[in-house]
Amino acid sequence: MKSDTHQSTETGFAQSLDMLSGIGPKSMGLLAQLGVETLGDLLLHMPRRYEDRRHITPMAEAVLGENVTVRGEVVSARNVRMRGRMSMAVLRLKDDTGEMTVTFFGRGFLANSTFTPGKIGLFTGKVESYKGPALKNPEYELLSGDDEDRLHTGRIVPIYRLTDGLSQRRLRRWIFQVLGEIDGSLPESLPPFLQQSYDFPPYTEALQAVHFPETPEAADQARKRFAYEELLAMQTGILWARHQVLDQETGIQQVINGAHLKALGKALPFELTEAQDRVISELFADMVSPRPMARLIQGDVGCGKTVVALHAVAACLDGGHQAAIMAPTEILAEQHALHLKGMLEPLGVNVALLTGSTANAKLVRESIADGIMQVVVGTHALFQEKTQFHRLGLVVIDEQHRFGVTQRQRLAAKGVSPDILHMSATPIPRTLAITVYGGMDISLIDQLPPGRLPVKTRRVTPKKLGGMYDYIREEAGKGFQTFIICPLIEGSETREDLTPVIDHFEALSYGPLAGLEAALLHGRLDPSEKDAIMQRFKAKEIDVLFSTTVIEVGIDVDTATTMVIENADQFGLTQLHQLRGRVGRGSVQSYCFLLGKPRTEDGKKRLEILCEFTSGFDIAEADLELRGPGEFYGVRQAGLSDLRVADLIRDVRLLDQARRDAIALLECDPALNAKEHQALRKRAERFGVLNV
Ligand code: ADP
Ligand code: MG
Repeated sequence: MKSDTHQSTETGFAQSLDMLSGIGPKSMGLLAQLGVETLGDLLLHMPRRYEDRRHITPMAEAVLGENVTVRGEVVSARNVRMRGRMSMAVLRLKDDTGEMTVTFFGRGFLANSTFTPGKIGLFTGKVESYKGPALKNPEYELLSGDDEDRLHTGRIVPIYRLTDGLSQRRLRRWIFQVLGEIDGSLPESLPPFLQQSYDFPPYTEALQAVHFPETPEAADQARKRFAYEELLAMQTGILWARHQVLDQETGIQQVINGAHLKALGKALPFELTEAQDRVISELFADMVSPRPMARLIQGDVGCGKTVVALHAVAACLDGGHQAAIMAPTEILAEQHALHLKGMLEPLGVNVALLTGSTANAKLVRESIADGIMQVVVGTHALFQEKTQFHRLGLVVIDEQHRFGVTQRQRLAAKGVSPDILHMSATPIPRTLAITVYGGMDISLIDQLPPGRLPVKTRRVTPKKLGGMYDYIREEAGKGFQTFIICPLIEGSETREDLTPVIDHFEALSYGPLAGLEAALLHGRLDPSEKDAIMQRFKAKEIDVLFSTTVIEVGIDVDTATTMVIENADQFGLTQLHQLRGRVGRGSVQSYCFLLGKPRTEDGKKRLEILCEFTSGFDIAEADLELRGPGEFYGVRQAGLSDLRVADLIRDVRLLDQARRDAIALLECDPALNAKEHQALRKRAERFGVLNV
């Protein structure tokens, strides 16, 4: 909203709130806490819900069990002490038809100041009985007994999100006042033909209807209008930014079906899954097109993203270009390099590894610049100034969320427009993906290679701990390894209930797991120490690895079969799922054991979801419902938390429509030059954070 300035109008949307009557610096401070700083902000502070006060029930007609709103004058109010330190407010109310009791449990203080005799208020709740008909803990609102009460009674009344010190009444009054003064020229960004085709009310009418609706349906349609307008601006912004960048670059047209690709097909030790096949053809379509590829592959750990990327690499080599693969850590880069060398060197391809600790880095860089090295695997070191490529054609970025969003800019600065392929093992719900990663095309690998056994997930009660440790010993005897994850490094006085990894390591190494080869890993170790431990674990020199959550995403140890998570309810769902993904990479049955008793309902639900689902996509959807969108990777950066009206869970269908409409709109008017698109363009620019 902040950029939607219309200074020219009398009651400008950007105008400060001090033109409102009855508002001072203190109130303005409170409103600022709600993100409301201008008149426009105030008008777009949408009701959280409504209360239907069209029908006030006369007290004499209140029927037991029904939901009613009564309007009553306080006759008496008592603060009644109860057992312990509890208190209760007991009010007697009257209207023209009768009397009624209202009680507020645990809030005796309300009788002292809020509800003194003579005060008039509205009370909404279910009729129960307490020495006659009564409302227990109803919603209430005080009235002033004058004309203004008509704003708060006898209609569908908006209920807003508040902050301490602000009342519904005052907020409602201010909004009502502004609505009465706005003139015709409003920052409407919805193109007229779209407004008509969805039968949305015009802007001013919609503002009236969303705050003070005649019917619940009118309120709903008006809210949708604003949500859609916002989503359209966001989608247009994202897609437009992408058009601007990608259309100005001329990408490389690769050749599909050359010698390397054919050789790779022959050398593969397995059949590709249907999902892999589908995604590979999506990549190829991008690669033959002159537009640079900007694609994200999402798929659970172990679904086989690497092989898919390998096909893109082969096609790139067939076109006579170099390919670079970037991983977030050295150990992951080494793992990729090993794998790529294994697959590509037999085909006569030179593969180099370039990380911060590469010994002969200068030499390696020279051979990259000469084009002798055709495939380069590395960490960020790949994109340092001094690394020059001969003919870079493809960049594969693994675990893309671990990097910033500026790779493209840095590459473009090297004077190349390679195809870029991102890979992520953190599936996020589709609604978020097309917003957070809206500038990219998205491919899903939603299928695991055949023969993979899903990890079995179990809660373990204290009684069964002994059995679990026996199991870990047996597995170690068979050459299989275990992770034990704790939420803390060291003991904490404030969190005595949590298991610190250092203590746990000691206790178990001298106790139930004595005699096994154990090691300790956490974030306070040097990177080189961490690496050394991971290497030993990969080399199977360690039976049990005690760790915090620092163990790498994507680490591939096929003999790791058991994952134990202490205080499991302390972790988020996505994190639990990622931890679990460290096991189950081989063909034997793996287990994930969840320890600790959840202390919250949410915590309990997370563990239930994890036991029930194994697909990252299912888990991400469940996580979105539990936590809302703000907690997902990239959401904040993408400006999504700036959404004021739209709700990414509730408005999925609107989002789809908005995206389709934005695509169509940009096809007709790629530069957004048309007069009727100017307001949209202005608003869209704000969402145009390019993250391809
Ligand atoms: P991701 O990177 O998606 O976590 P990887 O690409 O590392 O997964 O693949 C995990 C394992 O599965 C690797 O050992 C790989 O060789 C194997 N794999 C991949 N695709 C298939 C397939 N279609 N059939 C059998 N095994 C496969
Ligand atoms: Mg991987």
